Amino acid sequence: MSDKLSNPGLTGVDLLHDPVTNKGTAFTEIEREKLKLRGLLPPRIFPAKEQAGRVLESYHAKTSDLEKFIYLIALQDRNESLFYQVLLNNIDEMMPIVYTPVVGKACQEYGHIWRRPRGLFITVEDKGQVIDILGNWYREKVGIIVVTDGERILGLGDLGANGMGIPVGKLTLYTACAGVDPLLCLPITIDVGTNNEHLLDDPLYIGLRQHRIRGDEYDALIDEFVTAVEEVFPGTLIQFEDFSNLNAFRLLRKYRGKVCTFNDDIQGTAGVALAGIYSALRITGQKLTDQRILFFGAGEAGIGIGDLISSAMVDEGLSQVEASRKSWFVDSKGLVVKSRDNLQEHKLNYAHDHEFLPDLLSAVESLKPTILVGVSGQPQTFTQPVVEAMGDANERPVIFALSNPTSKAECTAEQAYRWTEGRAIFASGSPFDAVTLNGKTYVPGQGNNAYVFPGVGLGIIACGARHVTDEMFSAAAKVLAGEVSEEDLKQGCIYPPLRKIRAVSAVIASAVAEVAYKQELATEPKPSDMLAYMKSQQYQPDYESYV
Ligand code: NAD
Repeated sequence: MSDKLSNPGLTGVDLLHDPVTNKGTAFTEIEREKLKLRGLLPPRIFPAKEQAGRVLESYHAKTSDLEKFIYLIALQDRNESLFYQVLLNNIDEMMPIVYTPVVGKACQEYGHIWRRPRGLFITVEDKGQVIDILGNWYREKVGIIVVTDGERILGLGDLGANGMGIPVGKLTLYTACAGVDPLLCLPITIDVGTNNEHLLDDPLYIGLRQHRIRGDEYDALIDEFVTAVEEVFPGTLIQFEDFSNLNAFRLLRKYRGKVCTFNDDIQGTAGVALAGIYSALRITGQKLTDQRILFFGAGEAGIGIGDLISSAMVDEGLSQVEASRKSWFVDSKGLVVKSRDNLQEHKLNYAHDHEFLPDLLSAVESLKPTILVGVSGQPQTFTQPVVEAMGDANERPVIFALSNPTSKAECTAEQAYRWTEGRAIFASGSPFDAVTLNGKTYVPGQGNNAYVFPGVGLGIIACGARHVTDEMFSAAAKVLAGEVSEEDLKQGCIYPPLRKIRAVSAVIASAVAEVAYKQELATEPKPSDMLAYMKSQQYQPDYESYV
């Protein structure tokens, strides 16, 4: 997919200032001669490997994670190939910097650490002109747009236009984890104001200084945006990201049948959580349909996961009603039950006949779930009594503390293992280090949707899918769980190691495309060897020779 030389006329300083073509001190003698670079670079030529060594030295000299983030983004802005080479070779160390948890801090500080723009900002003041703004993008072809309105950034709430760090970070992961060409990626923030008073009072805040617009005015702007994307970049995949659940479910329902779109917080999270459950069942030897799942948090992530689990259970023979009854939810008011008034629409499927219980502990004690999933954004809410109650009810309790960033996790890996004498099968949204208890080491899995959406996106753009379906996420979950080795499972790790993520993403992309062909949604001719084709579509960050 790479078309780095789409601007072959670039020479001299222009070439050095273009992050896509710049190789810095790695330009060879012949390239320097032919591309008018002589004198513009110091005489010594550094191959990529030596450049990477210099990058790592500078990176490790940074004394805070936020400084490391700023340094890596600056490298991305300067020399994209080198950035991805370094990121891929150090993915375990750097993913938490370019993505959760550090990207959360970066978003909170966005106006203060501002360097260079990346992506497009569309505001409510652009009403009627969104199409012109999309036309200002510098590429004619776009494969994936990640768009946010900044209202629910990770578990950090409304960060307004500062939320741009998330689409930028997600698209970086599309490239790093799945090999989607960065030239096909477009991050967008729709600035409709913010209700975050702290940001509105901040003199360096980068967004509109006004409260959020709501209702018809908001819907009209989003509609104009979706329509304009179809016009300027027809068929492009639009990933909705970190919208509040006031809008997320509604927008997904409205657009999923019209354009190629999905909501990662609802569907991507569901894919990665279901994969974690499939892997956990490989450890316990139990059946999916025998599970009782209790969710702490009944928002986008929780309901999305519940819906995907239900559809997987229906595939395994349960009726829709039976499947829904396997998932239970506790929200900020207590157990979601039928007798409660004014439940939001997305919770109604899971409002079962049961006495109301006011808190998580009483729900765990009463329902005895086999699986507990934290998606509440409320830190330290899986308390010792809650985790112990899970341990009392199950030989191998499955406990997922998925809230991001790390500071919002419902419990730590160490707590989950310690309070269950090492019996818990644990995963978290942001990474935790391995834990050693009584001489045994446990490796917690990272249930981050970064395992799923990049491969799903690669599959969708490679086969030209017209829509994104739930079956694609179920297929992604199944193959992701299948990629976990017995060795990983023995240590309690229910996701494959990140260093295998590119290979895993190619497998996910193949599975997703197979679904697209089966559902007659693909527009590209079907390749004879799907996996080989997906691999051939993956961007490689190695330097190309320009002469
Ligand atoms: P959301 O705002 O849609 O939902 C949050 C839910 O938590 C709501 O139902 C709310 O009622 C409930 N809640 C809030 N306070 C509570 C309390 N004190 N007790 C019980 N429930 C409470 O948000 P979301 O999109 O569902 O995200 C929730 C969390 O999940 C965030 O921290 C987010 O970072 C995390 N998340 C993680 C991943 C991942 O890949 N690991 C993906 C998506 C979301």
